[in-house]
Amino acid sequence: MGGLREEDGRLSDVIQPRSLHEAWERKMALGDSAQYVAGGTLLRTGWESGTALIPKQLIDLRQISGLADITQTEFYLSLGALVPLSQCRSNEHLQAVAPALQEAARCIAAPSVRNLATLGGNIASGFGDILPALLVYDAELISFDGKFMTSLPLTEWLNNHWSGMKPAADLVAEIRISPARRENPLTDRLEIFRKVGRREAFTPSLVTVAISAWIDTEHRFREVRIAAGGGTGRPQRLSRAEAMLEDEVYTDSLLPALYEVVENSFETYGDPFATELYKKKTAGNLLVAELWKVMNRRS
Ligand SMILES: Cc1cc2nc3c(=O)[nH]c(=O)nc-3n(C[C@H](O)[C@H](O)[C@H](O)COP(=O)(O)OP(=O)(O)OC[C@H]3O[C@@H](n4cnc5c(N)ncnc54)[C@H](O)[C@@H]3O)c2cc1C
Repeated sequence: MGGLREEDGRLSDVIQPRSLHEAWERKMALGDSAQYVAGGTLLRTGWESGTALIPKQLIDLRQISGLADITQTEFYLSLGALVPLSQCRSNEHLQAVAPALQEAARCIAAPSVRNLATLGGNIASGFGDILPALLVYDAELISFDGKFMTSLPLTEWLNNHWSGMKPAADLVAEIRISPARRENPLTDRLEIFRKVGRREAFTPSLVTVAISAWIDTEHRFREVRIAAGGGTGRPQRLSRAEAMLEDEVYTDSLLPALYEVVENSFETYGDPFATELYKKKTAGNLLVAELWKVMNRRS
């Protein structure tokens, strides 16, 4: 057990469990006075800005083995919760299976932060920039509830998180992504992630968008997935925008209607730096601009 100094001079305990079960038991026993910590990079921003207090106990997850690997199995790509974001940026399996996720990791913070910051911490926050990218891959989240490892589609896990139904002691253990199946060898894969912040780089996001889809030789979209998020807002799939593109043949004339659907359906919030309307318009502009670029490069 180590120590971390609180602002009032008291030391808070750092507990280092060796298994998910031990971590979960400690959290159940200590309740709200304890908090899980992985890289600590998000928690620290709260402590330093004064928006969160250092808890009495920190349950440091980094000694738990088996959660820091990226593994390609026959059916899916497995990403452990303790995988650092820096590893996501360079991993060749991730590049092959989920390039939009890799781009999302590339856009987060700076190298020193990414070496500490974990995938699990980004996801567990409920608003990390990784989440919209994971949503367009229909990712499955494996969590530990004290007894069982449970697999849930990320969309459902997010619903539970944002509705307050997720038990506070549940641990994020792993993320699984199934590679998209190419049914026709002539189809192309579109996978994009874009982030807009208050400046070009090293900035928190205002808006993030992600798209994945198949495009056939006639420029028809199939299996369209579109997601948006940003800041501390709820990452979400934009199902009306997806339905608009599904089975449609791309022409530039689709884009104004797509923009309108995104602007009307993206649920976000205003903050001191950008109004709600600005963020809605930005999500629409980003998606339309990216599609226009990709599709006009193809033709
Ligand atoms: C300078 C700077 C810039 C940043 N820029 C960005 C950015 O652009 N985009 C972005 O998304 N983030 C950004 N962050 C925030 C942060 O670095 C990332 O979100 C990071 O991935 C969080 O991971 P972590 O391991 O450090 O989480 P921690 O800070 O350790 O934990 C975050 C939260 O998740 C919980 N938690 C952690 N692991 C688990 C688990 N396995 N199971 C259950 N709960 C868990 C913790 O209790 C805590 O509530 C930035 C941070 C800094 C300092």
